[in-house]
Amino acid sequence: MREELLREVFLDLQEQQRRNEETERFRKRDIRARYPEIAAMLEEREGLIRESVQGILAGRTVPGELETRMDAVSGKIRRALKEKGLPEDYLAPVYECPLCRDTGYTGDRIREKCACVIRRYQEKLRQAMGIPENGRETFEQFDETVFSPEPMEDSRYSQRELMNRVREACEAWTDAWPDQPKRDMLLSGKSGLGKTFLLHAMAGRLIGRGVSVLLISSYSFLETARKSYFEHDGGMEELISVPVLMLDDLGSEPLIQNVTIEQLFNLVSERQRRNLATVISTNLNQEELRSRYTERIASRLTDTRNCLYLPLRGRDIRNGRG
Ligand SMILES: [Zn+2]
Repeated sequence: MREELLREVFLDLQEQQRRNEETERFRKRDIRARYPEIAAMLEEREGLIRESVQGILAGRTVPGELETRMDAVSGKIRRALKEKGLPEDYLAPVYECPLCRDTGYTGDRIREKCACVIRRYQEKLRQAMGIPENGRETFEQFDETVFSPEPMEDSRYSQRELMNRVREACEAWTDAWPDQPKRDMLLSGKSGLGKTFLLHAMAGRLIGRGVSVLLISSYSFLETARKSYFEHDGGMEELISVPVLMLDDLGSEPLIQNVTIEQLFNLVSERQRRNLATVISTNLNQEELRSRYTERIASRLTDTRNCLYLPLRGRDIRNGRG
């Protein structure tokens, strides 16, 4: 998990708890101002709660009689609220998540992160990578009709058929996680053929399954690499260790001497050594990868023994259906 996002989730929950308490206070004030008879019942219940807390602090067991009286008063309050046309639980504790009451943790002895924390975390992860939960870039939303059904030049296949196969391969790879026969993937082809769409669809589904994914542009990879080279910060560690790293648009980043190629090689080879999955999209073909990044990087990126190589072809779909 990305620690800074997790911290944000718990800060959000603290803020939520603060708002809950505010709502509770507002409701109590509201009732006290409008209905003195209910206010009296509230005071009676608070007196009983104080009594039982004092008992517990003094090491006495709370007598059953006290609990019966508390239940009776609570029942009276609920009925009175209902009579006034308010919800019965108007004065009950306020929270969004019934599992953890917005504390973020469940369990008494062994504290576990609540399901709502995981959900909030995943949503933050999606936001950070520009993949909204109900976004359009999912496998389900894949629209084959934007691709031409006519056979492509020098091919028996149409762009639509090719894209359907590529989509299937990407979806199968994603659903096979963590047991893909090939760990890495390279999506190669000109701009506007749907590579970024596929990365987003894959990342979205993996996040939904709770897999840690980091999807970044090759430009921000380079930013991280540059900082870690010149400023020796630990930014590269996350890129090296995240279970699934997706690098979008490799080849669009500038070539910085001593940085781009060296750090890319380190990143790719270290991830392969750790058997972690790396998915790369690029406008470059194999030949161009070799000449830009050297043979040793290109061969690691395109080695079909552990890399699913998916070349995309056809017409740019962003230029309309022409
Ligand atoms: Zn919860």
